[in-house]
Amino acid sequence: MKGRVAALVGPEEVIVKEFDVPEPEAGAVVAKVRRANTCGSEVHIYHHHHPLLRECVLGHEFVGEIQALGDGVETDYAGESVSVGDRVIAPYYRTCRKCPACLKGDFNLCQKAYSFWSQRAEEFPHFTGAFATHYYIQPDQYFYKVPDSVPDEVVAGANCGLSQVLYGLHEIGLSAGESLVIQGAGGLGLYAAAVAKDMGAEVIVVEGIPERIELAKRFGAEHIVDMREFESAEE
Ligand SMILES: [Zn+2]
Ligand SMILES: [Zn+2]
Repeated sequence: MKGRVAALVGPEEVIVKEFDVPEPEAGAVVAKVRRANTCGSEVHIYHHHHPLLRECVLGHEFVGEIQALGDGVETDYAGESVSVGDRVIAPYYRTCRKCPACLKGDFNLCQKAYSFWSQRAEEFPHFTGAFATHYYIQPDQYFYKVPDSVPDEVVAGANCGLSQVLYGLHEIGLSAGESLVIQGAGGLGLYAAAVAKDMGAEVIVVEGIPERIELAKRFGAEHIVDMREFESAEE
């Protein structure tokens, strides 16, 4: 079976390339991509402004559907049993569990975090980004089954924007009754508003774009600082 990927081959230069979809090796999973989001990072990567990524397959926020399971894969990384046809999400970054950062428990700083994603499309297994027909989940890459109750458009951002905000707010120890100021209601800001509200915090959003202000309210902002009402950022 052939599949296609959107390969970034230079700054602002994307070519759609076709490859044979590989059979998963032991421990790996091949998924069909059902939906992929355009994350803000994707724009930086496209312009070659990302510090590490140059030639790669674009796309990293996505939900897929299991097409084939490698030998030994019976469950996801939360212990849920998995089979062909199940919807799954996979964090795009690697957690090698062997580098100095991982051994200290700082999994978010893994030195090999981008080792899958920074591959050129020509390198096996080709399907290392989500702007593609398929995605290859590597043998030591986390992935999770998606509950039937969660639709694709809600879950597709869970492996990047949502998980980063959840992690960040837990790292700073936000708790019920505290207040949180969010500067900018883009993708991450909106996730932060919803998660902080769910954690019991009072959410204040600084924003100047009317559509974003409306969204911020729907995502849990109780107070808006509308930047259009002030002459300068300092004010
Ligand atoms: Zn992202
Ligand atoms: Zn590591």
